Amino acid sequence: MASARQITVGDVKIGGGAPVAVQTMTKTETANLSATMDQIRRVAEAGADLVRVAVPRESDVEALRTIVTQSPIPVIADIHFNYTLALKAIDAGAHCVRLNPGNIGGPEKVAEVVERARAAGTPMRIGVNSGSLPKHLHELERADPVEALVTAATEFVTLMERLDFENFKVSIKSTNVPNTIASNRMLAQRIPYPLHLGITEAGTKWSGSLKSAVGLGTILADGIGDTIRISLSTFHAEEEVKVAWEILKALGLRQRGPVLIACPTCGRLQFDMDRVVAEIERRLEAYEDPIEVAVLGCAVNGIGEASHADFGITGAKNEGLIFSRGKALRKVPQDQLVDALFVEIDKYVKARQVVSDERAASEGAEWLAAIEAENAGELTPERLAAMEAAAADDEQADLDLVSALKPAPEIDEEASPVTGRRFTRS
Ligand code: SF4
Repeated sequence: MASARQITVGDVKIGGGAPVAVQTMTKTETANLSATMDQIRRVAEAGADLVRVAVPRESDVEALRTIVTQSPIPVIADIHFNYTLALKAIDAGAHCVRLNPGNIGGPEKVAEVVERARAAGTPMRIGVNSGSLPKHLHELERADPVEALVTAATEFVTLMERLDFENFKVSIKSTNVPNTIASNRMLAQRIPYPLHLGITEAGTKWSGSLKSAVGLGTILADGIGDTIRISLSTFHAEEEVKVAWEILKALGLRQRGPVLIACPTCGRLQFDMDRVVAEIERRLEAYEDPIEVAVLGCAVNGIGEASHADFGITGAKNEGLIFSRGKALRKVPQDQLVDALFVEIDKYVKARQVVSDERAASEGAEWLAAIEAENAGELTPERLAAMEAAAADDEQADLDLVSALKPAPEIDEEASPVTGRRFTRS
């Protein structure tokens, strides 16, 4: 369920059923204006809806004044410990301020920041991290870390509500994936405000992406979460944005650019798939259309499970086939497969429809049919999967038959003396 409340950061709506917003954080020293702006432009190009910048010094506030006017996407100022920096970031025009109400010097300081945010119409993100819960929750944290995280977050929410301020979103972040999932599920039940999701210090591009996909993917699949940030140990913040998009695309929550599908390869592989898939992935980054492109390592199965793909390639015997939506487009020498694929994609992008040459298509179809016939008995991973699925269907049909043939159980019923309604006696 999306959050009931919605806030607006710059021109981006968060919560209340708005598309899940992708955000990231710059890795530069914010005061280094040109480096920070370069990175902001790169993350915006990669699809970030929002960007956060660290503001730990006065010089960062100075740079922030310019950044908010030059950034193509709304800018969130990230403040820790120093409430005067939060006040100054609001004055500098930050589109949102993120702070942890537990570490900026007590409720009076929080109230001062809230007053300034209210006057400027600036939303806030209040967040708790597993590593910095307030002291009075440390014992609870040892006994029940999930309850402790949720309690910390709801205490901050209560503080905001007492200050009559509701223009905020909330985050609970933990390095522990199960705790992140459980605490966000619990928090979504308890508060109506938009939720920012993230796994703290997720790790390297490889492990961090996986942890984030599992953690955030699970929460998002429940319909919880209004904006996400992937935290990766890389200087290239755009990598975080790409991972965020892959998660949202995989769940069907948002669409952006092409989707690449590729077989896992096996001993029947007919071309250098590693290189080919990497090249296709790189070249697809230049396209905006949400086309699906499939790469099959061999033509033994025909087009099979990739028959729904907008475009695809497969190969055999030094030749390759370009196909589209289950039909052959043309066959080409294998060393021309990738270029030929992009020629077809470009034709599609220009004409807004798949452009097919009848003669080339029928040549391709014949070639494919011959390869399929030649390999009809091969037990490929795809054919094994299809056989397993068929066997499972048969098993279910048997079970259905057995249960249909069973005599109906005798029901021992009697009527309630009070309501007259019939009930089963146990
Ligand atoms: S049999 Fe399937 S997994 Fe193996 S190379 Fe061919 S398409 Fe890929």
